[in-house]
Amino acid sequence: MDLRKVYLDNNATTPVHPEVFEAMCPYLKDYFGNPSSAHHFGRPLKVVMDEAREKIAEILNASPSEIIFCSGGSESDNIAIKGVALSNLNGKKHIVTSQVEHPAVLNTCRVLEKIGFEVTYIKVDQYGMVNPEEIKEAIKENTVLISIQHSNNEVGTIQPVAEIGTIAKERNIFFHTDAVQSFGKIPLSVNDLNVDFLSISGHKCSGPKGIGALYIKNGTSKLFPIISGGHHERNRRAGTENVPGIVGFGKACEIVKKDMKSGSKYLAGLRDSLHQKLAGSIPQTTLNGHPTKRLPTTLNIGIECVEGESIMINLDLQGVAISTGSACSSGTLEPSHVLTAMGVPHEKVHGSLRFSFGKMNTEEDVNYVAEILPPIVKKIREISPLWNK
Ligand SMILES: *Cc1c(COP(=O)(O)O)cnc(C)c1O
Repeated sequence: MDLRKVYLDNNATTPVHPEVFEAMCPYLKDYFGNPSSAHHFGRPLKVVMDEAREKIAEILNASPSEIIFCSGGSESDNIAIKGVALSNLNGKKHIVTSQVEHPAVLNTCRVLEKIGFEVTYIKVDQYGMVNPEEIKEAIKENTVLISIQHSNNEVGTIQPVAEIGTIAKERNIFFHTDAVQSFGKIPLSVNDLNVDFLSISGHKCSGPKGIGALYIKNGTSKLFPIISGGHHERNRRAGTENVPGIVGFGKACEIVKKDMKSGSKYLAGLRDSLHQKLAGSIPQTTLNGHPTKRLPTTLNIGIECVEGESIMINLDLQGVAISTGSACSSGTLEPSHVLTAMGVPHEKVHGSLRFSFGKMNTEEDVNYVAEILPPIVKKIREISPLWNK
């Protein structure tokens, strides 16, 4: 019998939707021109790119002229954060962000610290939530940018971005949000959120890898260009455009627009079903993340007295793909910075598992995991010196 394969790591990446693949193919083959070329091999591609731009803009309630394409979520975060910082607006050199940001934001801020910027990393509560009051208190005379994620990729907590946006607006400070995990799953309107910059990525919403976009509010002053070169993307990001990726991203947006509402409900149903089943069959589990203000895709649970890594490997052997609360870096297991910031004790961080759902998952997937996981946990606990039966 074939091994059942269950992919529950959709926050890491999503499979490309078959319609997205179909839409991209002609642009990897026949329509190979350079969109900057004035001849007939190039010209139509500008139109195709603008159609994709319109689809993204529509979902965000933005205008197409406010969307630029780049290589993904990481680059989008970099263009916004470094772009604002290095523009050296009136010599302002202070940035406010949070302790639970994605490495694309955190490490970008750390790089800026090395060249003379000061960064305040706001802490979060037990649910991974930022308190807007603390942002207010962290603001200084020379604060140039606030960057707070829309939702967290590890635990799914959704931040009070609109409130933070209002604070930033009142103080005339640029505001960026990394909305990579939220895009396509929950409604996002740049006007309601009061953001100047918003980052998204194709491969987290059934599009291809290597394509992302940045919303830049109309009227925003000139950004220092991180990638300099030709006049692409309104002089904001040089480089010949990834036309197949852009077309695929556009198609993914078309699907998102149609399916988001029903899709989110469906995903939340699977998420809650798995949570209920595991909480009922595995003693001493806790939910990591906000109980209600959370992405429909994300279930992160802490299981006491186990190593998440051993669970992950055991599940992998039985065809199930998930993530854990530890990241393997240089041969050692680093506890997740997100769970650590939430105050989860180290041993519990190492016993945390992230299940992230996508639209091809089914209730059968949930049942399969609910069936095979409890015996794995039991086996691992039996050999754990910490577990007293
Ligand atoms: C995946 C992810 C990114 C990075 O996006 P890439 O397209 O892989 O570079 C940034 N932020 C968050 C929250 C993510 O989940």
